[in-house]
Parts: sequence; C-alpha cells; structure tokens
Amino acid sequence: MRKPVYFFRLSNNKGCALKSFACGDVVPGCEAVWVCSTEDEILASLAGHAGSAHGIHDVSAEMVKTVQEAITTVS
Ligand SMILES: [Zn+2]
Repeated sequence: MRKPVYFFRLSNNKGCALKSFACGDVVPGCEAVWVCSTEDEILASLAGHAGSAHGIHDVSAEMVKTVQEAITTVS
C-alpha cells in the first residue's frame, strides 16, 4: 500500500489563499500533493519531484502550463 506524499510549505501563510496541486491530476497514479503559498513555490518544488519520481529532467513550458491549469486555490 502506497502512502500519499505531501509537500507543505506554508512559510508565508498569513491568511492568504493557498495553492494546491495534486501530481495525480497530471501523472496518473502519482499521489504527491503540494500545498503552498504561491504557484511559484509549487513549480519550484515540482521540478525536483518530476526529476526524482518521474525521470523528467526537462520540464517544458507546455508541462508548466498543464500544471498551472491543474493548480487549485484552497480557501
Ligand atoms: Zn508525481
């Protein structure tokens, strides 16, 4: 049984809306989830995850766009 992987970076959380991204929305079967203050933080962390977990070392602009569209705002 696989455990979900969560990435939380809430250093700048002062009542602001948070951004959430589930890798499984883009890569079926992946259970990594991010909750960050900004999209940029998610994308920065995701770049490392894409390389180590999915062997994607060159994140294309198209991929970034797909991820941005999958990012939801947590209120
Ligand atoms: Zn993933």
